[in-house]
Amino acid sequence: MPPFPEAAKSATGDSQLRHNLRKATRTIRDKRAGVVGELDDWSDLRAAGKAIKDRTLRHLDGYLEQLEEAVTAAGGRVHWAADAGEANEIVTGLVRATGESDVVKVKSMATQEIELNEALAQAGITAYETDLAELIVQLSDDLPSHILVPAIHRNRAEIREIFRDRMAAWGVPAPEALSDDPRALAEAARVHLRERFLRTKVAISGANFAVADTGTMVVLESEGNGRMCLTLPETLISVVGIEKIVPTWSDLEVFLQLLPRSSTGERMNPYTSTWSGVTPGDGPQEFHLVLLDNGRSDVLADEVGRQALRCIRCSACLNICPVYERAGGHAYGSVYPGPIGAILTPQLRGTASEPEASLPYASSLCGACYEVCPVAIDIPEVLVHLREEVASSAGHRAEKAAMGAAGWVLGGERRLGAVQRATSAVRSLAPRRMPGPAAAWTDTRDIPDIPAESFRSWWRREGAAEDADGGAGGERGGQEGGRR
Ligand code: SF4
Repeated sequence: MPPFPEAAKSATGDSQLRHNLRKATRTIRDKRAGVVGELDDWSDLRAAGKAIKDRTLRHLDGYLEQLEEAVTAAGGRVHWAADAGEANEIVTGLVRATGESDVVKVKSMATQEIELNEALAQAGITAYETDLAELIVQLSDDLPSHILVPAIHRNRAEIREIFRDRMAAWGVPAPEALSDDPRALAEAARVHLRERFLRTKVAISGANFAVADTGTMVVLESEGNGRMCLTLPETLISVVGIEKIVPTWSDLEVFLQLLPRSSTGERMNPYTSTWSGVTPGDGPQEFHLVLLDNGRSDVLADEVGRQALRCIRCSACLNICPVYERAGGHAYGSVYPGPIGAILTPQLRGTASEPEASLPYASSLCGACYEVCPVAIDIPEVLVHLREEVASSAGHRAEKAAMGAAGWVLGGERRLGAVQRATSAVRSLAPRRMPGPAAAWTDTRDIPDIPAESFRSWWRREGAAEDADGGAGGERGGQEGGRR
């Protein structure tokens, strides 16, 4: 992927994409605002969610061990994956051991992050996405552009074309006379997927939460496709980021209120599936939990950046973000787009390469993302923190040198005065645009006019005149005199 400004350029020029995004994000965020506004205790819930996540992250090692113990006691098997390669190897080995070459998938950000589908394909295993939006993305050989609605950049007419052209290659074809009516599209997907659910013996999922004291995995979804995957197959493999833990069911209860309202704007989640290990005669008889680190320990080590691990992937920050609304998700070059992607991706992958280093700048710092975040992640604070990291890296020597020079000038009264006088003297020669790469800054901003006289020199003159007049009198005059 190119750096964000380059990737965003083509996206912002696509008027159809901008129309699709504007319509979809505004609909979801209006719905969210409505249901959040109904609750008098929303800010208390938000504070509770933040506190639970922070406490869990502080004692993450202990909770992970507790989770492993509980899952094992319930008949599941826990695997630890340090990175994407290890996780893919574990999952591929587990699927191979079943003798199957097809798997159905529940929508999962963690498996997208590690590019599991691609790893399985290399091993001759086909992964079938079953979430409606993920199905659209898979059929069209596309990339997801939103955490919750991966095909948010597509409209109904485009989806009808994708179904008509591509469904047959993946299983049951779409009806010949398929219209772009939402019910008809949903029915085509239902018929296509139903056959797949009934004959596939292995499922792969993520989890929204993992309850440490009972070893319970929790998946929230809106369509019921996930539940089919979680109950019908014989083997279930869940790939879960280590930050998904909540200590108890009482803690989970807080998030079951926060997440539906923040994500889909619903008061209650339509399908909440929970399972603990295996239950004889009921659901998958083999359960594997793959606990994924893949950079999360490094994020946890960063005192400012670690708050990103509180994220419950609700997408509220995407839907409110003016940059996301115009640039779309693909410009972020990661499965995590929008404001959360701008702080999570550079932390998970590091900022050594240009695309990742550009992400902390993909924001106006307006703070809307922080306002809507149900777990109060101060995204602007982390963005500024990451900008500092990028600016102090070797790749940004020029910016570092400029800031060093500015610090030196601003650090001394006489130096600052000399520079101000010199600048005022040549103000008529000041350019309207910055030269070289800095021109990008002034393409969209005006350079402020340089005043003929600095404030300090004006103050010296005016203050002296005031003293000569006997002062402005009263307390104010006394204070100003004292300050001088
Ligand atoms: S950062 Fe906050 S608002 Fe954004 S997806 Fe995560 S939890 Fe939701």
